[in-house]
Amino acid sequence: MTHVSYTRHGDIAVATVNNPPVNALSLGLRQGLMQAIEASRADAGVRALVIIGGGSTFVAGADINDFGKPYEEPSLYAIIDALMASSKPVVAAIHGTAFGGGLELALSCQWRIASPDAQIGQPEVKLGLMPGGGGTQWWPRLAGPAVALEVTTGGNPVAARQAHEWGVIDRIAEGKLLEDALVLAQDVVSGTLPARNLAESTDKIRSVDPALFDEFRRKNQRKWKGQLAPWKIVDCVEAACRLSFAEGFRLEKDAFRECEHSYQSRSLIHLFFAERAAGKLPDVTDTAAPVASIGVVGAGTMGAGIAMCFANAGLPVTLLDTSDEALARGMKLIAGNYATSVSRGSMPQSRADAALARIRGSTEDSALADADLIVEAVFEDMAIKQTVFRRLDAIAKPGAILATNTSTLDIDAIAGATSRPGKVLGLHFFSPANVMRLLEVVRGPRTAPETLATAMALARTLRKIAVISANAYGFIGNRILAAYGREADFLLEEGATPWQIDRVLTEFGFPMGLFAMRDMAGLDVIWRIRQQENPTRAAHLRYSPIADRICEMGRFGQKTGRGYYLYDGRTAIPDPEIETLIVSVSAELGIARKDIPDTEILQRLLCAMANEGARILAEGVALRAGDIDVVYVNGYGFPATRGGPMWWAREAGLTSIHDAVVAYHRQHGDYWTPSPLLARAAECGGDWDAALPPV
Ligand code: NAD
Repeated sequence: MTHVSYTRHGDIAVATVNNPPVNALSLGLRQGLMQAIEASRADAGVRALVIIGGGSTFVAGADINDFGKPYEEPSLYAIIDALMASSKPVVAAIHGTAFGGGLELALSCQWRIASPDAQIGQPEVKLGLMPGGGGTQWWPRLAGPAVALEVTTGGNPVAARQAHEWGVIDRIAEGKLLEDALVLAQDVVSGTLPARNLAESTDKIRSVDPALFDEFRRKNQRKWKGQLAPWKIVDCVEAACRLSFAEGFRLEKDAFRECEHSYQSRSLIHLFFAERAAGKLPDVTDTAAPVASIGVVGAGTMGAGIAMCFANAGLPVTLLDTSDEALARGMKLIAGNYATSVSRGSMPQSRADAALARIRGSTEDSALADADLIVEAVFEDMAIKQTVFRRLDAIAKPGAILATNTSTLDIDAIAGATSRPGKVLGLHFFSPANVMRLLEVVRGPRTAPETLATAMALARTLRKIAVISANAYGFIGNRILAAYGREADFLLEEGATPWQIDRVLTEFGFPMGLFAMRDMAGLDVIWRIRQQENPTRAAHLRYSPIADRICEMGRFGQKTGRGYYLYDGRTAIPDPEIETLIVSVSAELGIARKDIPDTEILQRLLCAMANEGARILAEGVALRAGDIDVVYVNGYGFPATRGGPMWWAREAGLTSIHDAVVAYHRQHGDYWTPSPLLARAAECGGDWDAALPPV
């Protein structure tokens, strides 16, 4: 029993599981558990069995690497069967976490006791999976179907005390967990607690109104669009209220297998590992420097949101702007955002008050003299940013890090304005900064490893997903956005409409179409950037004038009530005037418009993303293909259930994607030049990272 030790405490046997770090349900652990259950059964002197976790936790869950692989016996199913068939009562003693299969192991025991700070949950849905060890059958029996639906489709952790109130945990340990678990076991064997058979208990599932399930489905229809697992979960919880445990469990097993082998689950598991990998920098071994106080320069849209991120994480922030008016505007924006969070119920008033109290405003540079890290979010103008950095360099502590939130500018040129280029980097937050989880950490050629290590640690404090990008125009996200945005503009010229393209994208799973997104962000800012860039644009490359023409009409998107769409409040309405404009541009360019099938639109947009992604990888702007996927899912609305553009391409088959790109190149010209990495990765069996030259 390598992973499980078996001991006797009088007439109670104790199985202690030990599979550090989280006691995952590995084969060895399952074998050990099975042996412990059998040993307790065979030992006439034993009257009950306690299962408890060694180390810092109970069985935290299944091993994610095992999903989608053949089950090796004894499977969790076999253990659950053995526990349910055990003539001797079994008590699960939970501390730390019991998630997924770990929790189902505990639910299959007759009794449960937990430490007050333990957490339980069924997070499978977050990986496109569902409870597979009876979770959908135990929860309604123990806590009722309404709670069962919330817990199993929500995937969020549940505190032990809450679970106790619901009846899922029988006791909260007041003293030492093992000692209290032994007392519980004694109470069971002495008859102080009545014998029970939970699988046959129907108290909470008798006469449930079927409307409960229909209503729950209706309520979540939009949220679960295109997903498989949550719908299956509701079916199984509903079945639990109609069928015997054995029948419901059979249904759950089948549904679990379907989810386990789905594209969605593979994609979400890919993202789970990609997010973990994104935080790792292969060449940085330095430790992070402590960061205890923050400065933010520029109290506009981004500066206000960035200040909130730090304040929410408990750090004091000094927010700087040039005038009292600008500062007051920023502080008002912040107070308004907190008030919205409170009114929506996403933040308690006390937390909002505490966070707001951590932000103080100033118009004096000297107010930032004590900050460990200063984030600049002033206008997107190199001269202004360099002036700001020169001033910050003069007043900041010698070790302070100076970060810029620039979307497009050269980090190294900004660093060049200081005497500390090693302490300068980009921290590219996304709007709204206090909501969006993505953070591109931009590494300049002179950024010191310790600065990067500190930024990555800080991202964890902020609960952001940090992805490293090299210092190249558009970094990772905006560069791909430019590539597929360009293709969308060409599709307009060839026959599509903004609303057709947006529909194709939302049907694919984006929460919003590209043109609606542009309207929301505002068309004028990028128009001004294009006007600056146009004189140096290569003449032989195709250029679509449609976006410029729309701006020339004074249509800047939602803020002017008109952009690609007309707006009634925030509702986008297709506008015949825009269609007329697009048709006239096609005529001017001599392009014969034709119907473009939805499939072609989708293929061209996604191939454009993947080809640009391949270039970004080959140039070393992104370290891993998974980093690009993490950026696209968390910052640009790419549907998580499809794994990101690089994963999509890999699953679609890189050979066919390469062939498509070659054909588009022939047909549409130089923007489609195939990235050599695309061909190499196709030869490497679809593994992007294996196709990269060794570092
Ligand atoms: P904004 O115009 O809303 O705010 C800029 C603020 O900076 C204003 O309050 C202005 O008074 C202040 N400011 C200007 N010069 C200053 C100076 N010398 N010292 C102190 N304060 C000064 O702009 P924004 O949308 O918040 O963008 C700020 C930066 O963030 C830009 O570099 C932008 O490219 C980048 N960014 C913007 C977004 C976005 O979606 N808006 C997303 C990511 C990054």
